[in-house]
Amino acid sequence: MKILKGIAAAQGLVFGKMIYFEKNFDNGANEIGIDEAAEKALEKVRYLHKKTLDTLGAEKAKIFSAYEMLLSDKMLITPIKTAIENGEDAKSAVESVTKTMSDKLSSSKNEYMRQRAEDIIYIGSLLCDVISGAEDGFDFPDDGEKYIVAAKELTPVDTMMFDKDRIAGFITEKGGATSHVVILAKSLGIPAVVGADGIAEIKEFNGEEAYLDGYGGRLIITPDEGASAEYARKLDDERKFAQELEKIKKNGAQTEDGERISVCVNIGKPSDLKGYEEEKLDGVGLFRSEFLYSSKSVKPSFDEQVKAYREAIEKASPDAVTIRTLDIGGDKRLDYLDMKDEENPFLGNRGIRLCLKNEEIFAEQLKAILVAARGYTAKIMLPMITSISEIKKARAVLDKVKKELDAQDTEYADKILVGIMIETPASAIMADSFAKHSDFFSVGTNDLVQYITASDRGNADVEELYNPYHPAVINMLSNVIKAGERHGIEVSVCGDLASNTEFTKLLLGLGLKKFSVPLPVAGRIKHKISHTDGTSARALAKRVLGAEDENEIKNIILRG
Ligand code: PEP
Ligand code: MG
Repeated sequence: MKILKGIAAAQGLVFGKMIYFEKNFDNGANEIGIDEAAEKALEKVRYLHKKTLDTLGAEKAKIFSAYEMLLSDKMLITPIKTAIENGEDAKSAVESVTKTMSDKLSSSKNEYMRQRAEDIIYIGSLLCDVISGAEDGFDFPDDGEKYIVAAKELTPVDTMMFDKDRIAGFITEKGGATSHVVILAKSLGIPAVVGADGIAEIKEFNGEEAYLDGYGGRLIITPDEGASAEYARKLDDERKFAQELEKIKKNGAQTEDGERISVCVNIGKPSDLKGYEEEKLDGVGLFRSEFLYSSKSVKPSFDEQVKAYREAIEKASPDAVTIRTLDIGGDKRLDYLDMKDEENPFLGNRGIRLCLKNEEIFAEQLKAILVAARGYTAKIMLPMITSISEIKKARAVLDKVKKELDAQDTEYADKILVGIMIETPASAIMADSFAKHSDFFSVGTNDLVQYITASDRGNADVEELYNPYHPAVINMLSNVIKAGERHGIEVSVCGDLASNTEFTKLLLGLGLKKFSVPLPVAGRIKHKISHTDGTSARALAKRVLGAEDENEIKNIILRG
């Protein structure tokens, strides 16, 4: 038995035969020139673009349209040619130019540009493969079986060149949990483990049977009797679980004792709603509108905004879409907005503060939301609220926008609801007062935990302090839910806590009636809700609220 450990990047558990992927170089082939290589690489990328479009849809295919653009761009090919003219061989010219470009992009303040850094590296590797005549993918053995593919590294090009019907899972040494390969693996529904050291040792196990555990980040090759029994049982549970998920797909979430609970989705762009109509869900609880503003280096036009919001609203219809207004600041910057460098950006000009200081941008967004929601209810959510005056100011801007639309005789939303994110201690503590000025609350636990525990959500050094089991966090959640009940307004949780099945029972026990989670985890949350009894959940909440220490709370929650 051989076990390899890595990072669990795409969930799932599979059993299959091992196969080691290495590029086959066409030995003896004459290296080809850069123009011919770029042309061949472009041909390959166009083919993969079409294949991805047909199998995984437009969103994932964008990875390859970005490559098409880069390969046709003189900014990339010209310096490579110059380096070759100056005496470098083709491969090292490609490597040095792409490395310099990628390093430059990595340090850009613009997120869109930073993301292009990885693309440039992959383009470089594709060009080098073509120059040295590497063969595409490889042929799987002629047995029709599924294989676990092991490799040092898999680029998106490698990943999409495989015949997906023959792949059980991926394990690689390089690559992070958010790399493109992992994104593709997730959309193929295939488990993936990355960052697994010692992958080259696997070569000698080609054809051997193995379990790939995408939950625990493990590969178990030629399992012994004990491991075989354990993993066979887990695999059986996995199959049963998948069957149960399939069964509850078409029904709304309901607790064991029959209480209907809403499960909504969090999206960052309209295409995140792919597959929404196949499942019974209850709308979009959080549309993070930032993507529109940060995916390009210029501000999105009014029409672009209307189009994106309308697309989401129509896709989710008849369920409602809650659009959160621009939440920039903190770790998110926009180059075209005048944003000063701040010593403590998370305590600085963030979310609603920045919007109220840039009223034109804010008003344009509100107008776009209202126009996009014509014929529907507009649900507008304000981020980072700490004071009632911010809600009043935002409502005043909204009134001004409505008047403008009336004056222009432009059709807009039939009904408008204005809610707030509860993600600061100020709003959580004063939830009773804030409820009088809000049509709904949505708790952003990602920020709420950081501000309550005074520990930066992105700082690994204080990871232990950033603790959602902290009694202050749970008491605040309880306070917010109760305030919502008293004032008859809807309360949801849209932060990561809502996606964590460890917390589902507690949240139900605290009285939560609405969860908002990423679409891929919605089924698991519905499943957990359907196996939870209200009375027992309330008893758990009571025990947790009586505890004083985060470790004690964690134990109570884990014991259920
Ligand atoms: C949150 O803070 O929990 C939240 C949902 O918002 P974001 O993660 O976008 O800050
Ligand atoms: Mg937040």
